[in-house]
Amino acid sequence: MVCYLLVNCIICHMGIIEGVDKEQTCPNGHQVHHDCLKDWLIHSQNCPLCNETYSSSILVQFKNYIQQKEDEKLFALQNAMRLEELEKLKKLAEKMAFLKFEESINVLIKEKEYEYALSRLDFHDNENQSPERSLKILFLKGKINYMRGRFDLAINQLFKLVKEKYDYPEGFLYLGKAYEALGLKDKAKWAYERVK
Ligand SMILES: [Zn+2]
Ligand SMILES: [Zn+2]
Repeated sequence: MVCYLLVNCIICHMGIIEGVDKEQTCPNGHQVHHDCLKDWLIHSQNCPLCNETYSSSILVQFKNYIQQKEDEKLFALQNAMRLEELEKLKKLAEKMAFLKFEESINVLIKEKEYEYALSRLDFHDNENQSPERSLKILFLKGKINYMRGRFDLAINQLFKLVKEKYDYPEGFLYLGKAYEALGLKDKAKWAYERVK
């Protein structure tokens, strides 16, 4: 009768078949599959069971593999950081561009170039705009329409604006002005009360 002593790998708990599976052993005789140890060593150089450090003759066999894994990890990390950095820069650039754009619209308003300002706002108003910028564009349109005497349009836009974002004092201010210009005193009062 042949009796096999079945040894289980302490990492994957599957049997180690002598002569078939490549195995490694810690100083206290705990056996593991060679391939199981390969990935374990990325996290620790000690036996998962007794915590004894594997011999250098074992560790040296996995040196290249571990180095490669560490390089991959570092590369992935650097890549993620680079992407994050780029994303930040992109957001900053967009923000700066919008501030500049807003400035140019305010110049046009000052020069009473209302039509041109509106066409530029229309051009900038697209789905890619952040919600905050979309509201700003809506506000500027409402303000310009008020200034060029299109009170109905102004009310329409500014009402939509404050419905989206209640905390928008400037929006309520121009909404009030537009109501007032149409002689809608109660509504103007209601809007002005929300300016503070
Ligand atoms: Zn195993
Ligand atoms: Zn051990």
